[in-house]
Amino acid sequence: MVNYDTVLIRFGELSTKGKNRKDFIGRLYSNVKYMLRNIEGLEFRKTYDRIYVRLNGADPEIVREKLQKVFGISSFSFTERVDSNMEAITGACLRIAEETDKKTFKMITRRHDKSFPLRSDDINRQCAAVILKNTDLKVDVHEPELSIRVEVQENDTYITSEKIKGAGGFPAGINGKVLLMLSGGIDSPVAAYELMKRGLRVEAVHFASPPYTSENAKQKVLDLAAMVSEYQGHLPVHLINFTDIQLAIYKTAGDPYAVTLMRRMMFRLAQAVAEKYGCLAIGTGESVGQVASQTLESIACINSVVTMPVLRPLICMDKLEIIDIAKQIGTYETSILPFEDCCTIFDPKNPVTKPTTKKSEFFEARFDWQPMLDKALEEMQTVITEYREEQEEFL
Ligand code: ATP
Ligand code: MG
Repeated sequence: MVNYDTVLIRFGELSTKGKNRKDFIGRLYSNVKYMLRNIEGLEFRKTYDRIYVRLNGADPEIVREKLQKVFGISSFSFTERVDSNMEAITGACLRIAEETDKKTFKMITRRHDKSFPLRSDDINRQCAAVILKNTDLKVDVHEPELSIRVEVQENDTYITSEKIKGAGGFPAGINGKVLLMLSGGIDSPVAAYELMKRGLRVEAVHFASPPYTSENAKQKVLDLAAMVSEYQGHLPVHLINFTDIQLAIYKTAGDPYAVTLMRRMMFRLAQAVAEKYGCLAIGTGESVGQVASQTLESIACINSVVTMPVLRPLICMDKLEIIDIAKQIGTYETSILPFEDCCTIFDPKNPVTKPTTKKSEFFEARFDWQPMLDKALEEMQTVITEYREEQEEFL
């Protein structure tokens, strides 16, 4: 029996060198350990271009599922570890060949340890000879049904016949911090996932308008944050009470411009929070044309109140594509729970689709909003959310 006792993790072609490479691997290593933290018995090791996880009897299916969620992994394999000598290596290759129902194979060897006495070609040839002699398998170097991979390291050699695709991207947290505007909708949790995939560390800000928005709605946002936090570790959510600002907007501007003004206020607050917590950009779940506030005119008018870059990872995605990702990352079912967020409760009948900065400023000049923003910031509360295993089972 093949004993797949070690996971070998590859990070693919890193274009970065030197210190960046070291940071990449260091961060990936700690993210891998964090993702697998609840699985007992695992042992971790890293080298220049690989990470190894010894299973010590842990359930490979759970490890597989978790590793597929770690950004920065290009692929990984469940391997059998043997000592770096030809007898052990050919023995393990033969075990894989004996257990397969495939008809054709190819050997693929990578010799990381250049002091190993045989070259990759010779290792391939010797292993293939043993397999040909002892099984009915035939060699097919162009389209083999089975690829047997051998990686020779200094003391250990790793042998496998499968290569599982990783999530790609950069290790979460390596590329700096973004403040994501997180609502309870479908889009912004997906935006969180996409930002993390680029290696960004996400913090979130949420605007709630109690008593018009319920405690349930707030809890839903915290639950969503906890779900996506699995990809990066803890995710702080800064909660801002938006009620007074929202009421003042409705009193002064009335229906058509309310959403525009509300969103301009949200962006101003988001920039202040981002600056306070060292985030270099704001993130949103906006997508062009999706709703009235997401026409290009609206986006331009709202964006003009901030100087920070605004990252909108979903900007050109279709709603269906976004929903697909939401389902895949497990946030969809929670996102569609029917709790009002602050936009739906004050839902205007005729939102303007082509707002202008000039008109927005006209309305904004009619009330003293800066002290209200200051107060909201002063009273801001922060909840650190964290992924919980049992959460999955509720859904
Ligand atoms: P979502 O599904 O993310 O709620 P949406 O399609 O409902 O998006 P809008 O309600 O116009 O669109 O919101 C656009 C973006 O503005 C959201 O993706 C989110 O980034 C931000 N946003 C909206 N409401 C809030 C809120 N209450 N708190 C924080 N951010 C918000
Ligand atoms: Mg929304």
